[in-house]
Amino acid sequence: MKIISPSLLIILIIPLLWPLLSLAKEPHSTLAVAESQDNKNIKLHLPEVSLLPINAKLQALMVQLRQTNIDRPQGELVLAQFTVNKVPANAAEQYLLLVAQAVLTDKAVGIDNDGTKIRDIIALLEQAAKLSEQISEHQLHQPNFLQLHLILAENYAQQSQFDLAYLEKKAYLKKYHSYRKEKRLAMIASLEQSFTVNDKKASNSLLASQNILKVRRVAEVQNQNATKQYNFTIIISTAVVFMLLFFRQLRMRNKLIRLTRTDALTGLANRSALFEHGEHMVASFASQPEELSVLLLDLDHFKRINDNFGHHAGDKTLQVISQLVNETMRSRDVFYRLGGEEFVAILPFADINKAKAIAMRINEKIAQHDFSSLILQSKVTVSIGVATMAPNQLTFEQVLHCADLAMYQAKELGRNSVVCYQNIAQAQERRDN
Ligand code: GH3
Ligand code: MG
Ligand code: MG
Repeated sequence: MKIISPSLLIILIIPLLWPLLSLAKEPHSTLAVAESQDNKNIKLHLPEVSLLPINAKLQALMVQLRQTNIDRPQGELVLAQFTVNKVPANAAEQYLLLVAQAVLTDKAVGIDNDGTKIRDIIALLEQAAKLSEQISEHQLHQPNFLQLHLILAENYAQQSQFDLAYLEKKAYLKKYHSYRKEKRLAMIASLEQSFTVNDKKASNSLLASQNILKVRRVAEVQNQNATKQYNFTIIISTAVVFMLLFFRQLRMRNKLIRLTRTDALTGLANRSALFEHGEHMVASFASQPEELSVLLLDLDHFKRINDNFGHHAGDKTLQVISQLVNETMRSRDVFYRLGGEEFVAILPFADINKAKAIAMRINEKIAQHDFSSLILQSKVTVSIGVATMAPNQLTFEQVLHCADLAMYQAKELGRNSVVCYQNIAQAQERRDN
């Protein structure tokens, strides 16, 4: 065996190791470029690789053999279990067993004067190398499998076969570089995947938050609508209640006004209504050619009815008289109770003749009515004074006064009669002349 000077060996090995050292020294820059290029080309689409299964004990032994302090008896024990020819093993396992056997042979104690040990090692490794065809490229790039090239290079160098040593080193570096590259890509793929998953998780949580916000907004809008509806209902209800109270108040007020103008016993318009309407009508008739007449009725000897048949019978008599007069008058005429047993009728568009005719009809109707169902005395009479509004008369009170004078005249004439004020005035004028 030729002896190689150490300096020559270093010169041979350094160029081979340089790319590996530079790779280790500048992991970021070179890796970054390689990664970026690989990323562009491969887009993290890693090829499917099929690896042959490796026995766990063998795997552990291989790791141990790559370290300096080797537990040799243990290694030999494992090797004994996996003797190449006896134990059925797949190509990858056989490959590793041969490598392990070579490493253990290399570490065996004893001086190799004739180079037998090196030849044995080379023979074992070359035998292993032949199995490479049955093993996938990917698996061959694993560190346990790469050892073969290093050990071969070393032993070829010891045999001074530097070209073969060089080729083995080169093969080792190429495969190692490829192994590192695949590892990087796998790491990038895993990072990318975890990034994508995280990204998806983040976007999912964002969507979930947005959904929660939307649900809250919808709930808020619904609440606002419900509040609006509630307020609207309250306002409407308050308005309705207010309107009802208002109309009730109005009805009560009108009823009170009606009561203050109505005679409770007969239901006729009362004294205050008489003077209010009378003033109004006299004022309106003062400016037009049509005439307005007033009748004043007074029951004859009404006190006797009260005295003889009681106050209640007197009241009933007043009610019957009211009804009889109302039935006799025209629809446009209005009949009032002046007070006690006295009544007034305002007759619009009635001259003296028409008014006297109406008064006569009233007088007759009452005189002919049979009161025996109320009082023992079957007949009741009235005295009526008639006054027609004269051109110079400006107030209702003046017309009413004239009717009153005529009524007293009727009493003086023996009651149960009708007297017109105009007749009295004319008679007075004649007397005066
Ligand atoms: P004359 O023919 O002169 O009119 O006699 P008279 O009795 O009708 O008149 P007088 O003024 O003397 O009496 C009127 C009576 O009418 C006196 C009063 O008791 C009665 N009177 C007044 N208002 C009412 C009433 O609301 N009901 C009853 N039952 N009687 C009344
Ligand atoms: Mg009287
Ligand atoms: Mg009377």
